[in-house]
Amino acid sequence: MLTAFPSRSRRLTARLSLPLYERLSGRRFWTELGRLRELQWRPAAELEAMALQRLRPLLAHAVAHVPYYRDLFERTGIRPSDIKTVADLARLPLTGKSDLRSGFPAGVVADNLPASRRFKMQTSGSTGLPFDFYADRTDLDRRIGSFLLFWEWAGAPVGDGVVQVVVSLRPTVTVQSASRWVQTARRFVGEQVMHVSGIKANPSELLARVSQLSSRSDYLLWGLPSSIARIAVGLLDRNNSLAKLPRVVISTGESLTAADASVIVRAFRCPIVNHYSAYEVLHLAQTCPDNPELLHINSERAILRVVRADGSTAAPAESGRIVITDLGNWIMPFINYEIGDWAEAGSMCPCGRGFPTLRNVEGRLGEIIRTPAGKMISPVTLGWFLAHVRQTAGYIWEFQAIQTAADAIVLHIVPTARFTAEFAQDLERGLEEFLGGGMAVKVEKVDRIELEASGKRLVIKSELISS
Ligand SMILES: [Zn+2]
Repeated sequence: MLTAFPSRSRRLTARLSLPLYERLSGRRFWTELGRLRELQWRPAAELEAMALQRLRPLLAHAVAHVPYYRDLFERTGIRPSDIKTVADLARLPLTGKSDLRSGFPAGVVADNLPASRRFKMQTSGSTGLPFDFYADRTDLDRRIGSFLLFWEWAGAPVGDGVVQVVVSLRPTVTVQSASRWVQTARRFVGEQVMHVSGIKANPSELLARVSQLSSRSDYLLWGLPSSIARIAVGLLDRNNSLAKLPRVVISTGESLTAADASVIVRAFRCPIVNHYSAYEVLHLAQTCPDNPELLHINSERAILRVVRADGSTAAPAESGRIVITDLGNWIMPFINYEIGDWAEAGSMCPCGRGFPTLRNVEGRLGEIIRTPAGKMISPVTLGWFLAHVRQTAGYIWEFQAIQTAADAIVLHIVPTARFTAEFAQDLERGLEEFLGGGMAVKVEKVDRIELEASGKRLVIKSELISS
């Protein structure tokens, strides 16, 4: 009970001081958080109507002031007023990164808004060329509000004085939304940020950071699941445990597989949540606090659709490409924009929140095994098969599947001491059966899974030209 007092007093400090801080700074993220706390419980139909109310003027603005969208609507003969429901967005062609890249900036940036609203951003370029775009500064409070709501969901509300241990690739960008406003606000309520290198993924570094914490401090881990899983593996391998366990692990930036999740839960013995954030629209969705099976999409940030190959909306439990319409960016609109990830569509969540859902974020679009029989296997499905069907947790630390031919997979694995040649053969046969259609699987032991140039880990790589 001793530890509860400082936490409560900090929360009280936050509740009293943040409204004052808002008034002084001109920011509105605390108000936005309060609005989202209430909105999450509204019925789904009401939330969709609210999104449509913001979509209509955005479409009219894009057609009037952004040459790219003016041409697109003209070419298809659709008027903004024809889009009456979210499903009507399927009538518009998809816009890809290459469309916006080739038009940047003159063709894709609104010609009627002050340049001071532009905030230059660049995607990491992990799957190709870097992509420059403008975020809209007027959207900052919604973005931070969304981030704060998701942290509350994870069990780390603002004002709790939690220490974040960020496992990331670049020490200078500790948190994606770490604007100076939110950093100042965090320091104000006693939050600290510590960094652990995701590239080294060295358990000693985490042990050292945790030993620096005062006995009253709680902490959470936030970062790439492959890096956190590597640290978890290092701890389990050495039979080394932390003096204090984190309150929660928040996975972001990569596909979260069941295999990584199981190693993380074993080492850190705390809940793990999946936070989905794209560079173009940050803090989009996160695991439901009451139902780990689904992620809720913040429909105040964007309209997110999962679409089939023909652009129509996927049914619940169906996989498809993620297409977003950012409701907050008027500077450089993203309308029916294919973000490069794929996901499994979700149904209503029984928790009572009206926010729409995803069952899973399956991975990057290229991260996929295609079998000759037309079956598609995502990182999430492969991880589920290895962790739950084959129970590989005690035998394999890490894995990566490489599709080397239309009918051949090489599964790279980092073995534990229990791994044997028999286990490898069994796994080959089991995976061949699971993939079906005459796929040949070869298991190869490696010392480590090589990371991409971006420092991220792909669960599945394809050497086929068609992907
Ligand atoms: Zn829910």
